[in-house]
Amino acid sequence: MRVIYSDKHHLHDPPLEYWEGEMLPFYESPRRAEMILRAVRAAELGPIDAPSDFGLDPILAVHDADYVHFLQHVYPAWVAGGRNPKGVHPDTFAMRGMVRRPRDLALQAGYYSHDVTTVITAGTWQAAYDAAQSALTAAHWVAKGEPAAFAVCRPPGHHAHSDLSAGYCFLNNAAIAAHWLTEHAVAGRANTVALLDIDFHHGNGSQQIFYTRRDVFYVSLHADPERHYPYFLGGAEERGSGEGYGYNLNVPLPAGVTDDAYLAALDQACIAIERYDPVWVVVSLGVDTFVGDPIGDFALTRRAYPRIGARIAQLNRPTVFIMEGGYAIDCLGENVACVLTGFLARTI
Ligand SMILES: [Zn+2]
Repeated sequence: MRVIYSDKHHLHDPPLEYWEGEMLPFYESPRRAEMILRAVRAAELGPIDAPSDFGLDPILAVHDADYVHFLQHVYPAWVAGGRNPKGVHPDTFAMRGMVRRPRDLALQAGYYSHDVTTVITAGTWQAAYDAAQSALTAAHWVAKGEPAAFAVCRPPGHHAHSDLSAGYCFLNNAAIAAHWLTEHAVAGRANTVALLDIDFHHGNGSQQIFYTRRDVFYVSLHADPERHYPYFLGGAEERGSGEGYGYNLNVPLPAGVTDDAYLAALDQACIAIERYDPVWVVVSLGVDTFVGDPIGDFALTRRAYPRIGARIAQLNRPTVFIMEGGYAIDCLGENVACVLTGFLARTI
């Protein structure tokens, strides 16, 4: 399995984030990717390479050009206005019906963010850009005939909408890879990519990006948004719209989900994917489903992860794994490696 890793993720390292009335150390830290790299190397999955550069076009195929411009240039504008250099921290957000976008880039921060976790620092754009290029490089390998590839993306991506940062995410790495694959589809093939999201949280951004399309089938297992982030999307009743109706499948799960209950839900999701019959599978891989995760409430043990990987392998499609969440940092790398070794072993 090809593994793609860029050291530039270290450039995104905000010191603090707002959490329930306090400023706490930033949860989505560089140590996450370091732990994953260490475990993947120990598991000897395959060669580990830096990403190739596919340029901005595949990013702009998914994201709004003004939003991308904002991500590239907001930090200097924020600091030039005399604001706190620790990072761009908006405090006012464009909500229902508030359509006016200020000309000042720094004031656009609340226009282009859904919450307070997407702190932008001097190096955030470079880190996000390389994460997107890592996802594209993994997709490229699979399109060239590799059976599987894994992109160690950081910052993660699945909460990012086409023009909105959210949940530690700026560019939607999985969506960028999935869309790129649709442009390399077998001619005449309508059903191209199944985007399977197994992060603890619903991938609101991925859903929004593909909601009206049928060439990418978005399938997500996640915490019921009645009790967990992102709250405002992720219900089972959201099935897609227009041509995309029937090509969005949300499976909200209760607190305390066990290994067996989760595997049963995953099995149903995989059956739906088999029915869709995609050319490629893209997996938004989060392991914040782990029992020890500080921000999740599922009860998955280490033993679940090889089984998850093996069930995905049974789809028998070229597969791109894109790293998303997981915050039990000491166990994070091994849980990720377990999914990937389970995939390679292909036995439940
Ligand atoms: Zn998550």
